[in-house]
Amino acid sequence: MPHSLSMPLLRELCFAFVAGAPVAAPAGAASASAQDAIGGPESRSPPVIAIVDVTLLPMDREGALPHVTVITRGAAIVAIGPTSGDGAVALPAGATRIDGAGRWLLPGLIDNHVHCLDPRDLVLHLAHGVTTVRNLKGAPWHLELREAIRRGERIGPTFLTAGPFLNEPQFRTPEQFESEARRQADAGYDCLKMHGDLAEEAYERLFITAEELGLPLVGHVPRNLPLKTVLEIGPMAEISHAEELVYTHFQPLRTEGDARAIPGCIELLKAAGTALTPTLVAFENIAPQVEDLAAVLASPAAQLLPPAARELFGPRINHYVRRFRREDCAWLRSSREFQARIVKAAHAAGVPVLLGTDCGIPVVVPGVAAAKELENLVGAGLSPWEALAAATVRNGDFLQQSPPIGRIAVGATADLLLLDADPLADIAAVRRVAGVMSRGRWFGRQELDQLLAARAASFAPETALAPLIAVDSTKALLTAVRALPRAADGRRPLDDAFLFSIWQVYLNANLPHLAAEVLACIEE
Ligand SMILES: [Zn+2]
Repeated sequence: MPHSLSMPLLRELCFAFVAGAPVAAPAGAASASAQDAIGGPESRSPPVIAIVDVTLLPMDREGALPHVTVITRGAAIVAIGPTSGDGAVALPAGATRIDGAGRWLLPGLIDNHVHCLDPRDLVLHLAHGVTTVRNLKGAPWHLELREAIRRGERIGPTFLTAGPFLNEPQFRTPEQFESEARRQADAGYDCLKMHGDLAEEAYERLFITAEELGLPLVGHVPRNLPLKTVLEIGPMAEISHAEELVYTHFQPLRTEGDARAIPGCIELLKAAGTALTPTLVAFENIAPQVEDLAAVLASPAAQLLPPAARELFGPRINHYVRRFRREDCAWLRSSREFQARIVKAAHAAGVPVLLGTDCGIPVVVPGVAAAKELENLVGAGLSPWEALAAATVRNGDFLQQSPPIGRIAVGATADLLLLDADPLADIAAVRRVAGVMSRGRWFGRQELDQLLAARAASFAPETALAPLIAVDSTKALLTAVRALPRAADGRRPLDDAFLFSIWQVYLNANLPHLAAEVLACIEE
């Protein structure tokens, strides 16, 4: 199982990204079938796994069922039933048996809003029970990553991705928005992500094009337009932050913080059939960074980040520290609470509330953030079951995968999360991960810990290099990288993901000349 992109592949990805061209799969990769991915190339029959005598949260209906056995075959759930007595499920010969007694089984969690810059994040998601992620700013290498995971060449959650952001000033005319949306559909992206301003005519054209293409239009509400105008022109499939509602409904109406204006907002969402992903965990993380960034970076969760991310989120580069002052923190906190009230009202009115974290921005840690957002949804007034539904069946229904995800039902994808404690009694139990199944592949606690340890070990050579990252120059960093002694096979003692993630940071920051310098170094 490769844990980092191979150099030739990385090279191909880099060039394809620079050229803006779709990336072809590596030679020979297309011949691997889905079954091969699960059972290994020589395996004819996919592995059968039985999780025996567990308390089951199927999530396609409320509540939990005690003493249930669930059987998976390859990437599918094939049987569910009582462990003993009438209608007991027979254990197929040769099935791997996992003891579920005293444990709780639910579908793997779905984080519908991540930003993946470092492919080593994938293991972090998985180890925290997240079995599907949707990346909301995509590049061609994300499509390649999605396919590598699909083929079973890389361990990780099922990966979905938007394309590049659709907004001004990158695109201006309705024609430009339409042609970019069509280009992204042709490239194979899973949804269209807005992030910034759009003129009314451009939004209308984008909406019509998205409908034609059958791709969900998601993301930020164009902040130059009122929510009402946007949803009346054409309903977005999903709004990716509760924060966006504050800017496009409450602020234009001068009712920010006024709970009496909430029903009007919810009416608009309800009439449009638009889903809401609150990402409270992302917003609530801003004030603590502004007040005491060192404390945030000293948190146990932040220790899971790669050295490059810790540096980018650190005091030299962190954009929140630049953008906000201490006196903004009172507003940030009261807005966070107001957003939670919007979430509660949206949920009560039947607006689909979905779980997403925005992890990958400072300092939102993949996997850890999903557990925190579940607690946030409960804090906002959802029951533990309803919060889990936001992370499983509602996200699954929204993402419309085939076979379905986000539920434990015969025929659904075998994405499972086994817990040592009852999440319906206390949602914090989602942190007590006993094991995870990802498309039929089982990872017990020990195996998850081994994956995490291997991931952490890969960071060691980066610790001394990361402080050399600078926003205006690559010189110090690349000089140090070039000075590293090479192994006999010519490789640097450095995971490819390190320079790769920095290359993307420069590209995202619209610094193509610095990105090109990093790329040249990767190429050497
Ligand atoms: Zn985001």
